[in-house]
Amino acid sequence: MSAETQDTYLKPLPRPSAESQPFWDAARDHRLVLQKCRACGKFWFPPSQRCVHCLSGDHDWTEVTGTGRVFSFVTYQRLYHKGWEGEIPYVVAVIELDEGPRLLSNIVGIPADQVTCDLKVRVTFDDVSPGVSLPKFTPA
Ligand SMILES: [Zn+2]
Repeated sequence: MSAETQDTYLKPLPRPSAESQPFWDAARDHRLVLQKCRACGKFWFPPSQRCVHCLSGDHDWTEVTGTGRVFSFVTYQRLYHKGWEGEIPYVVAVIELDEGPRLLSNIVGIPADQVTCDLKVRVTFDDVSPGVSLPKFTPA
């Protein structure tokens, strides 16, 4: 959990679209949800109106396990935005969820130099401001 408040949180915050609002609403409740197609049964991410596998417009928002693996990552050694001051180095990773979709997030709770591809991870939620929680990943 972050001790920062809306006044002191200096990083960009998500700006949900109509398609992604349910994702962010669930994250605020510390639940990771993805769209699951009612026609073909597959998940997809990022949010969109139609299934990326079969183009059906019929889906449910379904809670997923929140577990997966590091598919790829980069370690930031240089400050590009003052919001990250004091947090260098930090890891930005592509997480492949056990359900299939990949999403971009941070790896936390482990020194940056210990992150590897295929590291098993699970979701954790960072409450960065009132009403905004960011899904991040930590070693499982
Ligand atoms: Zn489908």
